[in-house]
Amino acid sequence: MKNVLISGASIGGPALAYWLRRNGFSVTVVERSRGMRPGGQAIDVRGPALEVIERMGLGDQLRSFSTNMRGMNVVDADGNELFRSTTHTLSGGDLSSPDVELLRDDLARMLFDAADGVEYLFDDTITSIDGTRVTFEKAAPRDFDVIVGADGLHSNVRRLVFGPESEFITHLGMNLAVFTAPNFLGLDHWQTFQQGEVVGGGIMSARSNAECRVYMGFNGVTDFDHRDVDAQRTLIAEKFADAGWAWPTALKHMWEAPDFHFDSMSQIRMDSWSRGNVVLLGDAGYCGSPLSGQGTSMALVGAYVLAGELAKDPSTAFQRYEEILRPYVIANQDMALKNQANGGAPTEEFTDVVNSLTLPAY
Ligand SMILES: Cc1cc2nc3c(=O)[nH]c(=O)nc-3n(C[C@H](O)[C@H](O)[C@H](O)COP(=O)(O)OP(=O)(O)OC[C@H]3O[C@@H](n4cnc5c(N)ncnc54)[C@H](O)[C@@H]3O)c2cc1C
Repeated sequence: MKNVLISGASIGGPALAYWLRRNGFSVTVVERSRGMRPGGQAIDVRGPALEVIERMGLGDQLRSFSTNMRGMNVVDADGNELFRSTTHTLSGGDLSSPDVELLRDDLARMLFDAADGVEYLFDDTITSIDGTRVTFEKAAPRDFDVIVGADGLHSNVRRLVFGPESEFITHLGMNLAVFTAPNFLGLDHWQTFQQGEVVGGGIMSARSNAECRVYMGFNGVTDFDHRDVDAQRTLIAEKFADAGWAWPTALKHMWEAPDFHFDSMSQIRMDSWSRGNVVLLGDAGYCGSPLSGQGTSMALVGAYVLAGELAKDPSTAFQRYEEILRPYVIANQDMALKNQANGGAPTEEFTDVVNSLTLPAY
């Protein structure tokens, strides 16, 4: 049980690779992109996930990537300020908490750099899994003791082994695009949001104000091809065609953005995260949606527990992984729905749910 294949090199995949390598496993990661993918919104590392990072010895490095937000405001379609806060932000929550908010791609790169001896197969994907036998689109077929799907909301491993996505996904009726642009509003460690009836979003400065990340979202359930990025850009352009404020300039930058990312806000709920020697990690098995603010933390904690249990006893590892993680996952997924009902803002139980798992020692 020492030879593991992981599909997906974002957060869960590289974090699991790190912990498996530390426990003497041989690890291969297959990633559909040509390299580590850029982009994604500011994400948060909270509660037990912060402890996972500390146990990796990466706490100071994590904090050095902090977005260091000073606060946020909300404006109307003409740019008039409606609300301002220097204690909370919409993306990261309470600014005085120990949570660390950083860009998704910075965290992914940090995790990638942390592990030695991991074999990465970029620009490739799994085409079939039959017991230990795995075939790839490009690489030659190989055998692996364990196969992990850490390949996100639209997981390929889940589709191949567990069944079609439609059996497990719930669309929450919101959609979000995220991309990088020059800091065209001149924001200083600041985020500004504007919400219309159907479309809305925000802009936050990033990387010491050198650039910004733009969030553009709309309500409703829309069919879209999650591989067709140009069609997704067109969809956003159509939805925001008559929106006011800074959106016309944001749209111009959208067409040039190298890291445009669009998806529905959805959850994945499954009765079991494993089948045979295949197991799911992070968004692939239990996506909470951006409304939970906990997708990254769940992936980090999941990676730590899965690796710890595999090192302890492979015969019970998947069962123990679920026993330890499932209550925490369900609480976070349920919280996302409550946040949605609360207009997207965290409810009072947020801190308790975030900290509802005590990390095992391995
Ligand atoms: C580019 C990008 C931008 C994102 N932006 C946001 C955002 O703005 N807001 C938000 O809340 N969440 C966003 N996410 C999701 C967020 O990263 C996760 O919710 C969370 O961090 C858990 O990570 P994960 O590793 O489980 O899944 P993900 O971060 O989704 O990573 C999945 C990885 O699997 C890879 N992959 C997918 N299909 C295949 C395949 N067939 N074969 C091999 N590899 C495959 C993907 O390229 C990706 O690297 C984004 C993810 C990505 C990849």
